[in-house]
Amino acid sequence: MRRKLAAGNWKMNGTSAALSELEALADAHTTASVDVLICPPAPLLHRAAEIVKKSAVTVGGQDCHAATSGAHTGDASGEMLKDAGATSVILGHSERRTDHNETDVVVCSKAEAAIAAGLTAIVCLGESLQQRETGVTLEIIGTQLAESVPNDATGDTLVIAYEPIWAIGTGKVPTLEQIGEVHTFLRTQLVARFGGETGSAIRLLYGGSVKPGNAAEIFAVENVDGALVGGASLKVADFSPIIAAL
Ligand code: 13P
Repeated sequence: MRRKLAAGNWKMNGTSAALSELEALADAHTTASVDVLICPPAPLLHRAAEIVKKSAVTVGGQDCHAATSGAHTGDASGEMLKDAGATSVILGHSERRTDHNETDVVVCSKAEAAIAAGLTAIVCLGESLQQRETGVTLEIIGTQLAESVPNDATGDTLVIAYEPIWAIGTGKVPTLEQIGEVHTFLRTQLVARFGGETGSAIRLLYGGSVKPGNAAEIFAVENVDGALVGGASLKVADFSPIIAAL
């Protein structure tokens, strides 16, 4: 059985004041039957890790560099995130692929580095609206999966997040059939590549406009093992019901 995961991506939102939301989340989840993860902006990571220490909530990064250290101004390595208290790191989010020109090859090398540092790599992939409308979604997703996931991934070290770009922050959500089609495709591809045991153990998250009102029906779709939540992870009042729906 794959353990369910509710992951919150705060993106570039929140200063110290936002940590009160994390405190409330940690207080509400001293134990949990599912995994709960919050990925705050990097400057808050260390304090966030201290806040969740005695709870079932863990914290993660939103990106890391492929190198362990060196002359890379503005970047942080997987080892640094781990040292700050992270358990996981989001990699290859569409906003990073767009804003920072990250390719599948770059994402793959970051995932290798994250896993080597002892982090779980949450690798994001997803099609654009134009790709969806021209019927090439599975082709695009298949290529992203093949090229941005490292060969040494396991169920403990890798999570895949399917985030259709057109559903991120838009309030638009694919139909349950569309989500199911992609997740089943991802599962089949993972089993073909990694074998039945590892391929079945890797968790698949859906991300893109997940809200308290639609979480339960999305989580009921086969091969959806949780969610990567943006906007609705910023407030406990929104994120808690999503966790409860898992
Ligand atoms: P929203 O939940 O705000 O649509 O963001 C999804 C996302 O990009 C999570 O990584």
